[in-house]
Amino acid sequence: MSTYTNFTLETDADGIALVTWDMPGKSMNVFTAEVMEELNAIIDATTADASVKGVVFTSGKSSFSGGADLSMIKSMFSSYQEEKAKSPEKAVQTLFGLVGRMSGLFRKLETSGKPWVSAINGTCMGGAFELSLACHGRVASNAKSVKIALPEVKVGIFPGAGGTQRVPRLANAQDALQMMTTGQSLSGSRAKAMNLVHQVVEPDQLIPAAKQMIKDGLKPVAPWDEKGFKLPGGGIWTPASAQLWPAAPAILRRETSGNYPAALAILKCVYEGLQVPFDTGLKIEQRYFTEVLQTREAFSMIRSLFISMQELGKGARRPAGIPKTELKHVGVVGAGFMGASIAYVTAAAGISVTLIDRDMEAAAKGKAVSEGLVKDAIGKGRLTQDEAAALLSRITPSGDYADLANVGLVIEAVFEDREVKKAVIDAVEAVLPEGAIFASNTSTLPITGLARNSKRPADFIGIHFFSPVEKMMLTEVILGTETGDRALAVALDYVAAIKKTPIVVNDTRGFFVNRCVLRYMSESYDMLIEGVPPAMIENAAKMAGMPVGPLALNDEVAIDLSLKILKAAVADLGEKAIDPRHMELISRMVEKEGRFGRKNSKGFYDYPPKPAKKSLWPDLKSFYPQKKAEEVDVNVLKQRFLVTIALEAARTVEEGIVTDPREADVGSILGFGFAPYTGGALSYIDGMGAKAFVDLAERLAETYGDHFKPTPLLRDLAAKGETFYGRFDPYAGTKAAA
Ligand code: NAD
Repeated sequence: MSTYTNFTLETDADGIALVTWDMPGKSMNVFTAEVMEELNAIIDATTADASVKGVVFTSGKSSFSGGADLSMIKSMFSSYQEEKAKSPEKAVQTLFGLVGRMSGLFRKLETSGKPWVSAINGTCMGGAFELSLACHGRVASNAKSVKIALPEVKVGIFPGAGGTQRVPRLANAQDALQMMTTGQSLSGSRAKAMNLVHQVVEPDQLIPAAKQMIKDGLKPVAPWDEKGFKLPGGGIWTPASAQLWPAAPAILRRETSGNYPAALAILKCVYEGLQVPFDTGLKIEQRYFTEVLQTREAFSMIRSLFISMQELGKGARRPAGIPKTELKHVGVVGAGFMGASIAYVTAAAGISVTLIDRDMEAAAKGKAVSEGLVKDAIGKGRLTQDEAAALLSRITPSGDYADLANVGLVIEAVFEDREVKKAVIDAVEAVLPEGAIFASNTSTLPITGLARNSKRPADFIGIHFFSPVEKMMLTEVILGTETGDRALAVALDYVAAIKKTPIVVNDTRGFFVNRCVLRYMSESYDMLIEGVPPAMIENAAKMAGMPVGPLALNDEVAIDLSLKILKAAVADLGEKAIDPRHMELISRMVEKEGRFGRKNSKGFYDYPPKPAKKSLWPDLKSFYPQKKAEEVDVNVLKQRFLVTIALEAARTVEEGIVTDPREADVGSILGFGFAPYTGGALSYIDGMGAKAFVDLAERLAETYGDHFKPTPLLRDLAAKGETFYGRFDPYAGTKAAA
């Protein structure tokens, strides 16, 4: 009988203990304080038991483990902050101690004197792979689901339980750095090629192979604990390393613009750690980890990119008391650019789709997009032939609205035209079953206005996808004034089923994401007009942490669409709604120069046939007298981009469009890549403090225009020393209920 909650332990006739990690009530194993305690007890028990010859460690779930439970780290942040207020020195010491626990536990396993083999049956991330690295043998299944990674850098931290020391003692330093500074996933065979696992076997051979390693006399000693251990490639002081190390910080800077302290800490851990004995290396890692945990970047990234994202994904904004809807059948109307891809992601989630367009031919053309995507996925090994066939069989093209009689949800993605949409709403509602929900994928038309065409406005909602739909993880769910709770619940159940992250926003022109994105692009128009060289504009944005420069982004979105949006703003809101110089610039690009963006290979960039790369259109410089590079302060350019977006995000909160700061943060990162190291547009403000932000915005307003003027809400937060997360506390309801 097992005495553990999270593990079972069975010893076979050969004296090999099989430890199976299977946390009750969880879909994935994660490290919690209890798991660590139990693992410690298991190490003690197996070490003390003379009949145990060795230990095989595996998972009872389809995945191996997702690594540390980051909410454990979140509670570490709070206790650190509390203690810091009393005694900063003691707080750091306590943090240092806590940080060392996992590393110490794995080192204890590694030096227990019994051979341990990790049998990796599925996704093995972060701390779970660090545990595996501390085992003396590692066997991975060759299943497609096996993904091995140390992805901590993506949430602002790094592998702090021995990862930075063990990986470069097994793999060559360059591969080790690449793996840890990007957080990339490895297949079992790639991990084997890097010398990070010993064997890759068929899934059903995993445990036998792991046991066999022990029977074959696996030594319970890590390579670095052996006398005469040699580092792969010979260590730091070799000619090969002389090629790598001087360039490494420069390459990292090129990739990250110095915005990610954790990535730099990885470099330091490896460089310093490889020059000292292993245990000293672990201490170095522990010190840098303690330092990185105290950074604003780590705090904000863990909060937004892990905790908030998970909470929103699990339905943090889902109204209570409405039973979960398991959608079996969804209708998509409009099989064009967006509708075709929406059908694909829906079918990929196992849901049947009726894909409607004006006629069968147009609908079939939409389905052909899925055929292309499926082919691509087969080529990349992401789908088997059978899975691909099943996916395609779930999409039924049609030109007949009557085929929507059994659907639980319809997503409309027809032309962005009120009249066309009105006709579609009428046609769909004529056949839509009672209780089914109608969702529009409109990107600019307010939902409340569209819902006026509906006979059942409570069942009418916006589900706004982003392109490319298969890649973008975000969806914006938009509430019209009459949208009911059930429509919201169904929309969120659907978004969860297709494994995207939702943010829920109230109705407004441009919703949340496009409002912010327009500010980003509009700031770049101002800069062009001022004569800032286009390359500086693009580079400054990237240095600020944006993944794509504003001009490149505008090309992706299409410049003729920008012109349409400017014209619509004038038509709906009057001449004052826009800057006439922007209209002049954009209409010149589209109407005079015929430059529509990537779609006609001519935009702010030129797009020559592949493999040649895009380059900025040289004539753009002739539009305005150009400033010399030394006349432009790159830091100010960087600030302008982040501040103008953050101000727009703050306005959406002030207007009640976004009600939960988590959504503005997650939406800004997943929607348009807002400098992830900040934790998102509102965390950027909270991080520097509302007062500092208001001062900065005021300074920018003096030179660059009133759109930088801080809003009343920001002034109020600044005056009272408050934050967005304090004033609009997303957990207020839960705390009151607790
Ligand atoms: P699109 O022109 O590529 O596709 C529209 C499709 O709707 C066409 O296949 C057309 O034949 C079909 N259609 C038109 N009238 C119809 C009718 N009466 N019945 C059935 N089908 C009809 O347009 P798109 O880019 O896919 O945009 C569709 C919607 O998605 C728009 O509301 C747009 O604002 C929104 N949207 C677009 C993007 C984007 O990046 N393109 C992003 C988010 C949202």
